[in-house]
Amino acid sequence: MSTLRWQAAARATGLLAPDGTVAATIFAEMSALAARTGAINLGQGFPDVDGPEYIKEAAIAAIREGRNQYPPGDGIPELRHAVADHQKRHYGLDVDPDTEVLVTTGATEALAATILALVSPGDEVITLEPFYDAHAACIAMAGGTHVTVPLVAAGPENPEGSFRLDVAALRAAASPRTRLILLNTPHNPTGTVLDRAELEAIAQVARERDALVLTDEVYEHLVFDGAVHVPIATLPGMAERTLTVSSSGKTFSFTGWKIGWVHGPADLVTAVRTIKQFLTYVSGAPFQPAIARALADDDAPRALAASLAFRRDLLVEGLEKAGFGVSIPQGTYFVVADGGPLGFPDGVDLCRRLPELAGVVAVPVTAFCTPGSPTAEALRSRIRLTFVKRDEVLREASARLAGLTP
Ligand SMILES: *Cc1c(COP(=O)(O)O)cnc(C)c1O
Repeated sequence: MSTLRWQAAARATGLLAPDGTVAATIFAEMSALAARTGAINLGQGFPDVDGPEYIKEAAIAAIREGRNQYPPGDGIPELRHAVADHQKRHYGLDVDPDTEVLVTTGATEALAATILALVSPGDEVITLEPFYDAHAACIAMAGGTHVTVPLVAAGPENPEGSFRLDVAALRAAASPRTRLILLNTPHNPTGTVLDRAELEAIAQVARERDALVLTDEVYEHLVFDGAVHVPIATLPGMAERTLTVSSSGKTFSFTGWKIGWVHGPADLVTAVRTIKQFLTYVSGAPFQPAIARALADDDAPRALAASLAFRRDLLVEGLEKAGFGVSIPQGTYFVVADGGPLGFPDGVDLCRRLPELAGVVAVPVTAFCTPGSPTAEALRSRIRLTFVKRDEVLREASARLAGLTP
């Protein structure tokens, strides 16, 4: 019997049970566990404080002004211009707002429409591992073959302290069938911000293999300690083969609004638009003018990054005091902690027990890996926690974790 696309998506994310049913994602399972036990939910990454009031007011005003019917399919001109201005101002990228930008229903739709538009059955798509689950699901829905390259945790092979790209593994993973290299930087779940040398190695492989690059940059503004986010589209010869995806959800703390975008060469954006128009047709009319305004504001994301750096330190200190091994994230709002030193060799088991043991919910890093892969094995004892919660929530979580013993 042939595999249906939903079954492929479920299998690619480890959710297809042997009896053919679909299991709940670990995120849903852990959030339900948090609700049932009253534990502090540091599993799912969404802020417990909304973004700026004036952005909310702009959306409310847009509803009152009657911007409630289908907007243009590629997004309202103000927002497309705001995206192009943002890319020029921050990165020096020249983007034509009329032909090279497409507004989407969150980064999720931008990623799905791009992968469905550009990947054919049998094409190989390279991602980092661990990877965001929607990346794997979309590759499977397109019938593509998912090839992974590990981010390596600190250790004898990587004395750097943070997770780093295995460049030799990337070169070995590339093949004449490589159609797309799908990146995510700053990286969920590891907090890695790919540096220029890593991006140059990726760019070189893409040029040699004549592959396209799809880059998920939803955490572009959430970087710490002077780390610099470099869009791969700014590297020589890369703008012509790169589709860059971002979104307002993480940058402005409106994850429920689902306004995202993709930009790149006009012919590739036309291909993505062709799919997008039959997925959702258009995206969130009254939210688009509000996000167009927000994108001109560089202070709000800067303030969020500064407050997140402080909150990261709160949670990291708590985790270290509790006895976890911690790799310090340079970006995103997640930290990866290693339960191994505390006597917890299995992250899935630890996450199932953590609400009872400490009143805290986390998710295992293996949920971001191909089941049974060498990277899943290497990261078996790691868990991911979010620090996009109020200071007092993180202090309470740290206090609870302090008493943790197997
Ligand atoms: C949250 C997240 C997304 C989804 O973004 P939306 O704009 O909410 O669709 C995509 N990629 C990564 C890595 C994320 O963490």
